[in-house]
Amino acid sequence: MTEPVLRVSDLRVHFPVRRGLLARRAGTVKAVDGLSLCLNAGRTLALVGESGCGKSTTARAILRLVPATAGRIELGGTDIGTLGGRRLRQARRDAQMVFQDPHASLDPRMTVLDIIAEPLRAHGIVRARGAMVREVAEIMEQVGLCAAFLRRYPHELSGGQCQRVGIARALALRPKVIIADEPLSALDLSIRAQIINLLVDLQRKTDIAYLLIAHDLAVVRHIAHDVAVMYLGRVVEQAPAERLFARPGHPYSQALLSAMAVPDPVCERGRQRLPLAGEPPSPLDPPAGCAFHPRCRHAFAPCRGEEPALRDRGDGQLVRCHLDEPPAFAAPWHRAGPGAAPGTAAGAGEEGQACSG
Ligand code: SF4
Repeated sequence: MTEPVLRVSDLRVHFPVRRGLLARRAGTVKAVDGLSLCLNAGRTLALVGESGCGKSTTARAILRLVPATAGRIELGGTDIGTLGGRRLRQARRDAQMVFQDPHASLDPRMTVLDIIAEPLRAHGIVRARGAMVREVAEIMEQVGLCAAFLRRYPHELSGGQCQRVGIARALALRPKVIIADEPLSALDLSIRAQIINLLVDLQRKTDIAYLLIAHDLAVVRHIAHDVAVMYLGRVVEQAPAERLFARPGHPYSQALLSAMAVPDPVCERGRQRLPLAGEPPSPLDPPAGCAFHPRCRHAFAPCRGEEPALRDRGDGQLVRCHLDEPPAFAAPWHRAGPGAAPGTAAGAGEEGQACSG
C-alpha cells in the first residue's frame, strides 16, 4: 500500500483566552479538537462545516502557520511537527496553499513573473533569469495563462486570472498536496466553473492531492472524493463523497445537505428542509455530551451527558452520533416518487430518481 501524502493524527489546536488588565486566563477555545485524516495522492478531501467550525485553523496548523497543541502531522511519511529550520522549509515544499481572496493574496507591487518565481528563488531551485522566465511561463501554461501576463501586475488581472496566478504560485514547487482554503468563494459563478475544471485537470495530470476547505456543497459534490464534516472543532462525519451525499449519517450533515441549492424546480418543490435551529454554541463553553445536541432534532437523553465516539457505519463512513441508524433523509437532488409527501424520505434516497443538480 502506498504511503499517504498527508496524514494527520489527533490534531488539537487550543487557544488560551485572557481577559482583564492582568490578562488572566479566562478559558480555552478548542478550535480543533482531536482531528484525524488521511489523504492519498490524486485524491481530494473536502473539509466542510459552518464558519468557525475549525476548517481554516486545521489548514493553518497542517502548514504550521499556527502551532498545534497536540497531535502528529506527517507529510510524505515525515513528522513535520518535530522539524525546524532548513528541514521544515524543505518539508513545506510538499504542501502549498491557495488562498480565499485571490487579489489580497498577491503582492500588488510584484509582477506575475515575480510572484510565481518567488518560491523558486526562496528555495534556490532556479537562479538564472532566463531559466526562471522559461520555468514560470511553463507553469503559467499549466494554469491556462499565456506568457503575455508575465509582466502584468495583480490590479491588471480579473479575479479568475488572479486565482490562476495563486494556483500557479502553489504549483511552482511541485508540491504533493495543495491546501485550498475556499478558493472559489470570492469568484463569480462563471469563473468558478473554470477554476474547478482547472483543479480537476491539474489533478488528473499531476496526481496532486487537494485538501479543499469549502462552504459550497455543490462544488464539494463535484470535485471531492472524500468529505469530512466538522462541527465545533471535531469531525462529526467522514465518508467517501458518493456515500455521504447519497446517505448522510449525521443529523448535522443532513441539515447542511438539505440547504444545498439545486437548480431544478421539481427537486426544489419536493425537497426536505432541515433548518438548523439557533447559532453554533460558543467554542469557549461548548455543551456537555454531544456538542450538537442543543440544535439536534433527534437528541435524546444520552446526548446531553455522553459524548459520542466516531463509529464506523461500514463502507468507510464514520459517524459521531449515538443513534444506531441515521434518521430518514431525502437528498435534495432526488425527485420525490409518486404520492410521496414533501418533507418525507419516501420515494427518495438511493432509489429516488436523480435530478440534474
Ligand atoms: Fe443528535 Fe444525539 Fe446524534 Fe448528537 S448524538 S447528533 S444530539 S442524536
